[in-house]
Amino acid sequence: MHFDVIVLGAGAAGMMCAATAGQRGRRVLLLDHADKLAEKIRISGGGRSNFTNLQARHDCYVSENPNFCRSALAQYTPRDFIALVERYGIAYHEKKLGQLFCDDSSQQIIDMLDEECRAAGVERRMGARVEQVGRSDDGFVVATSIGSFSAESLVVATGGLSIPQIGATPLGYQIAEQFGLPVTALTPALVPLTFHVDDATRFAPLAGVSLDTEVRIGKVRFRENVLFTHKGLSGPAILQISSYWQPGQEIIIDLLPETDAEAWLEERAGSEQLLANAMGELGWPKRFAEAWLEGQGANVRGKDLSPKKRRQLAVTLHNWRVLPNGTQGYKKAEVTRGGVSTKALSSKTMMANEVPGLFFIGEVVDITGWLGGYNFQWAWSSGFVAGKNC
Ligand SMILES: Cc1cc2nc3c(=O)[nH]c(=O)nc-3n(C[C@H](O)[C@H](O)[C@H](O)COP(=O)(O)OP(=O)(O)OC[C@H]3O[C@@H](n4cnc5c(N)ncnc54)[C@H](O)[C@@H]3O)c2cc1C
Repeated sequence: MHFDVIVLGAGAAGMMCAATAGQRGRRVLLLDHADKLAEKIRISGGGRSNFTNLQARHDCYVSENPNFCRSALAQYTPRDFIALVERYGIAYHEKKLGQLFCDDSSQQIIDMLDEECRAAGVERRMGARVEQVGRSDDGFVVATSIGSFSAESLVVATGGLSIPQIGATPLGYQIAEQFGLPVTALTPALVPLTFHVDDATRFAPLAGVSLDTEVRIGKVRFRENVLFTHKGLSGPAILQISSYWQPGQEIIIDLLPETDAEAWLEERAGSEQLLANAMGELGWPKRFAEAWLEGQGANVRGKDLSPKKRRQLAVTLHNWRVLPNGTQGYKKAEVTRGGVSTKALSSKTMMANEVPGLFFIGEVVDITGWLGGYNFQWAWSSGFVAGKNC
């Protein structure tokens, strides 16, 4: 039961790492406690997997040190993964903003990685519950519910905490702490935000409304849609900003990013029309316009808006301040922000600086990508780099 490399976690990063190491002639064991391979790939991108992003660069990642991911992203680029996808004849398309999706099914990505592992001679054991991880004379020992295994190198690819229902566990963080590696604060990310009770009651009837906006926290801004839900806000702009949000912080929403609100209101200065009816020409659903303007005490005729009120309303339309009271948590989060501190790892190899032979890759590391294929690209890049060095 001795191998050159044990990879813990047969998800995106683990499969990429196992295949890469196997192709180098390393004897690799890939272990996972789940019964099915790579469930997160399967459910990703609405079943079509947004498997990479053409624009993946270090500043699309949230981390204590976003520069850390430069090396891996340069060693294995989106183009490299696309070449692999094309080699397997998997049809894909760009949806928007550099986001690449399978035309048919995310299962094709799983099958491709599985075949890469098989061709590289990787031995795989599913349903293996890890009981203990320790050191041996020449490496590491992993005791599991299906036996004990040892190897020179141990690669931890057990992912983050999101979606515990399909097998997410804190094992990777526990192994890091066991070997003395720091773990940064963990929070749900790419996650819907929730309203305080008053706002939730006021906006609950708007569930389902989606608006083109720009959402900001400090200098970070995302120009995408916001979706009102029964509990608060979601949609791509909110999921993106959630990775930067801290409890107690306001988010600022520009509700009319394409329009000069003050000029538009001035044009209505003599109008008999209620503003909520006029907002339709700006793409606002009427029920949203009514609820929002009533919240501002401004659902009046254009002619009844004083110049001062007009200026105030224009400022609020471009800077609507919302104070969320939390997130929908790991059950709804796409990823975990935070993880094994990059300070403890080599960016060139993904090996722990102080523990030769121990590697951490993928989401378990303190690297969190934006929405749009960035997280898988990090899994492929970090998995490849560790696979070359383990
Ligand atoms: C609903 C959803 C949709 C997503 N869509 C996208 C998308 O379209 N594009 C994108 O880039 N990202 C997407 N993501 C994020 C992406 O899935 C992850 O960032 C990525 O899978 C991380 O890869 P990983 O290999 O580090 O971890 P994972 O893929 O999560 O793999 C971890 C593996 O470790 C195993 N494991 C965990 N604990 C243990 C244990 N104790 N013992 C043994 N094995 C264990 C798990 O069973 C799993 O197989 C999505 C996430 C979710 C939840």
